[in-house]
Amino acid sequence: MNGKTKKRTKTSPCIFCRIADGKAEAYRVEENKLSLAFLDINPFTQGHCLVISKRHVPWWHDLTEEETRSLFSLARRISRRMMRTLHPDFVCMYARGRRIPHTHIFLVPSFGGDLLDRFFNALEKAQEFPEKIARVKEKKAMKRTAGLLQGKEL
Ligand SMILES: [Zn+2]
Repeated sequence: MNGKTKKRTKTSPCIFCRIADGKAEAYRVEENKLSLAFLDINPFTQGHCLVISKRHVPWWHDLTEEETRSLFSLARRISRRMMRTLHPDFVCMYARGRRIPHTHIFLVPSFGGDLLDRFFNALEKAQEFPEKIARVKEKKAMKRTAGLLQGKEL
């Protein structure tokens, strides 16, 4: 690896490092040399998996090329298996790391109307909202709205 690799110990505070080392339990799904997939213990839907780098790297964009290939290759393999076995509409993939800053990809089988589907629908509506509200705040629109509420215009 590179010089940024931190020495992991039995007492590592990082839960994903402990899982990668077999020191903490997980419902392991599949692994390769550099990456590991396991079930999220708080699933959004059945089959929700996390795919992590075995090395402690906080953010996915700081992985090496080899680790990146490994991570996304494993994510793709698991997603294709989800499609065959769980039959979702598709597999949603995203990476955050706010709570556990150790590279992990969320793989969530997505079904219309499920929790994540509703969440992303709300986000997409929020993306559209500023344009609508901007129009409402234009001077001409504000005068018209004031007129409506004053009963001057119907
Ligand atoms: Zn870690």
